[in-house]
Parts: sequence; C-alpha cells; structure tokens
Amino acid sequence: MVSRVIPVEKFDLVIFGGTGDLARRKILPGLFRRFLSGQMPAGSRIIGAARSDLDSAGYRKMIADAVAEFGGNESSNTKSLQSFLQQLEYVAIDAKGEGGWAALKALVRQDVVQAFYFSVAPSLFGDLAERLHTNGIANENSRIVVEKPFGRDLESAQALNETLAAHFRERQIYRIDHYLGKETVQNLMAVRFGNMLFEPLWNNHYVDHIQITVAETVGVGGRGAYYDKSGAMRDMVQNHLMQLLCLIAMEPPGQFEADAVRDEKLKVIRALQPIDHHHIVRGQYDASPDGPSYREDAENPRSFTESFIAMRCHIANWRWAGVPFYMRTGKRMKARSSEITVVFKDLGHTIFEGDEARHRNILSIRLQPNEGMDLQVTIKEPGPGGMRLIDVPLDMTFADALGDNVEDVADAYERLIMDVIRGNQTLFMRGDEVEAAWRWTDPLIEGWEARNDVPKVYDAGSAGPEDALMLMHRDGRKWRDIKA
Ligand code: NAD
Repeated sequence: MVSRVIPVEKFDLVIFGGTGDLARRKILPGLFRRFLSGQMPAGSRIIGAARSDLDSAGYRKMIADAVAEFGGNESSNTKSLQSFLQQLEYVAIDAKGEGGWAALKALVRQDVVQAFYFSVAPSLFGDLAERLHTNGIANENSRIVVEKPFGRDLESAQALNETLAAHFRERQIYRIDHYLGKETVQNLMAVRFGNMLFEPLWNNHYVDHIQITVAETVGVGGRGAYYDKSGAMRDMVQNHLMQLLCLIAMEPPGQFEADAVRDEKLKVIRALQPIDHHHIVRGQYDASPDGPSYREDAENPRSFTESFIAMRCHIANWRWAGVPFYMRTGKRMKARSSEITVVFKDLGHTIFEGDEARHRNILSIRLQPNEGMDLQVTIKEPGPGGMRLIDVPLDMTFADALGDNVEDVADAYERLIMDVIRGNQTLFMRGDEVEAAWRWTDPLIEGWEARNDVPKVYDAGSAGPEDALMLMHRDGRKWRDIKA
C-alpha cells in the first residue's frame, strides 16, 4: 500500500523563530520529509526569520545539522538535502523593532500561498501580526500558524484572540495542536464515521465508560521553572486531552469540513459539566534513583503545581448522560503511552453455562507507541473441552497494515503544515473552541488554588498516585495498564 501524495500549491512559508528548538526539532525536519515525498512544489520557499545574526548560508548549515540530528533515516539522503536547502532563506529580524522587515518584504511573494508560522513566545504574536501588515507583507489570504500555549486562562486567551483578530480573520488563523495531526486521531474519525459497526453503539446504551491516558516517562527536567507556572491541567488537559475527548464524543458533523467539525467539538466542550473536586486527583513525582523529584526539577520546594492529573468528567447531553469519561496525564510515569479506550457494557445475559467471566468489548486507539487500534472480542477458546470463552484482541497496528510504507505516514507537524498550505482548517482549533476549553478549566484550577490543594506524591515510574487508582475503583472500574 503506497500512500498517495497530493502536491500543494507553490508557497512561501516564513518561520518566525526559525532558529528555535521547535523549528529545528520538528518543523524543518518535517518539511524535509514532505520535500522528499514530492509534496513540496519546486519554487516554494521556506524563510527562517529570527533574532540570530545569520545569513542564508549559515541558516542552511544550521538546518542541515538539525535534519541530521532529528530527521531520522532521511537525513542520510544528502543529495536531496542539498536541493531542499536551496529552497531555504534566512532573514535576521526583530519582532519588536524595524530591523529586517524590508528584507523580508523583498523575499515574500504576493502571487503564491503565503504562510507565517509564529514559532515564538505568544508575547510576540501582536508585534509580528502588526508588522506583517504595516510593512505591506501580509495580504487578506495570508495564513498564520500559532503554537501552544494559547493563553494560560480565559482572559489571556481572549486577549490573544483579540490581538490576532485585529490583523487577521479567523479563516486565516491556524491554532496548532499537534495531537490533531496524528494519524490515529484522524483514524478515530474514520472509524466512527466511515463504518456502520461503531456509530450505532457509540452512546450511553452500549458504552460503559471511556478512558483517555497520555503518559510520559520524561520529567520536566530543564524546563521545570517554566512548567511550574502551568502544570498538567494547563499544559496537557486544556488542549490535547480536551481535543481527544471532543473527537471521541462529538456528534457526526454534517460533512468533513472545518467549521462543521469544529462546531461539533465546541458543543462537546460546552456540555462538559463542572467537576466536583473529589473527582480530581493531582500528583507530583517523587525523587528516584533515575532522577530528582518534581519539586527539585521545578526548583520550587513549596510548589503546588501538578505533574500528574486524573479526573472523571461528564458530558451533559443525550448521547452521553451517565457515561463517565476518565482522563489522566502525567510525567515520569511507567511507560510512554497515549491511548483512548472505549469500554462497552457487559453482556446483559450469557447463554454459556458455567462461564462466569465478565466479557466486554473494548476498543482501544493507540496514539503512541505503535499507532493503531485493537478491539477486544470474545471467542471460543480453541480445542475440545466445551464452550470456554476467552477475550482476544483484533489488532490493527498501522506498522503491520502498512508494511514497509509506514515510514511514508506523515508526522503530525508535516501533515498540519501541509494543511495550512492547502487552506484546510479542519484539524486546527478555532478561537471560540479554545476559549470554551478555558472557560471549563479555569474554575477547576481556581478551586484547587483556593483550597491550597497539595498534590499527592507518586513514585516515578508508576501509574500515578494511589488516589488516581481509587478514583476508578470507587466506581467499580479500573484503568488500563500503561504499557509501552
Ligand atoms: P526557542 O526559545 O527555542 O526559540 C525562540 C525563537 O524565537 C528563536 O528562533 C529566537 O531567535 C526567536 N525570537 C525570540 N525573540 C525574538 C524577537 N524579538 N524577534 C524575532 N525573533 C525572536 O523556543 P521554541 O521551543 O522553539 O518555542 C517556540 C514557540 O513554540 C513557543 O511559543 C513555545 O511555547 C511553542 N512550543 C514549543 C514546543 C517545543 O517542543 N519546543 C512545543 C510546543 C509549543
């Protein structure tokens, strides 16, 4: 099976912050892969724009090194890399001053697709947006891409939205959440809306509960002081887990089109009920032989910020009334694993005498590692000895299904950047969605701050604090094992 590559229109992509960590680790290696796949048309330009005093030759060298370090197998393709590098330019620019803007204007063409990736701190968004216009560079069809964090609460998110709206229309703004660019996340929509099998069961008559887990093995390490100002709720739940929740819970959109999809996601967020604080567990990882504790990493011995959070949510609508959604995410956990699991209800009645086991179908969608899904079904245990039932997974790991071509599956950033060039906003967050997510998140954070809630300490390399296990045990349920 060979994945089809549909070339995009010729473009000029300016990456503000083009020398930064994100640009070097993700954006440019990703663009090189798209170049290799033939998706990037000849004559397109990628223009790095940042504070460093470099020229285009120096920038090409920097990006060659970045591709070698972060580009995986492709980096060995040196001939193609040289051709790719020829499409790169660099402008030293000051977002807050006038330096470099004339040079940028001279490079960016008006007759090709224009995209400006704001891979810089959000405090610079307003300066960049304004200068793109005052210098006559952006036009009414230009697109801008903005990175998380999109605010740290409702008020700051609204302020950011207003800043961008002063210069660009909503149809020009691409708020990136790279979780939405993952193959499996899109497959979730294909499974739900492209099969007869699942959608009729996708409701409170047949689903017992849903679990969403995003577990990381890394701690907050070098960026501890920065992380300590946000925590797992702001860093992961408000954006990534919320987006996964929306895709799993939303009503079928009328068509697979940006606003139709985003309207349905917004309805889910608006239907989320406030959570009683007994249904939220926050944690901080402890020191271990492998590394310091969260508080040491955060350089804050009195930190109340969570590196882990688990919660039970409810969506107040007809489809989901009474179905709990359990979400958890944390750092320094036992394995790196992201998974969405739909646990269907037990059979109401069994005809197999003597079979005491509790059989239920479980659909799990793995985002990492080994993107894919499996469906647990009950079958007869092979061999003689009567009707003994066992539960087995029907496994669909993409690597198996796609064979050697799994390397062709675009990484989230690559896919999303190509969507920007195509002008397809389906996998990007709309301003009202982001604000609605903060509107739900803010009171929960304010609640634990007002209570001076102290996060529970958990062992590094575990599944989080004991209380998080109890959150489900109390309901007669249990979390899926976190495994790599
Ligand atoms: P970074 O600190 O590594 O790079 C910042 C870039 O901004 C540099 O290229 C720098 O030259 C440029 N810059 C800073 N001030 C400037 C100014 N006044 N004028 C022009 N350029 C200026 O940051 P990063 O890690 O690449 O992150 C960039 C953005 O992406 C941030 O908003 C961050 O929160 C977000 N983000 C990063 C990651 C990641 O993995 N690094 C992941 C998600 C989101």
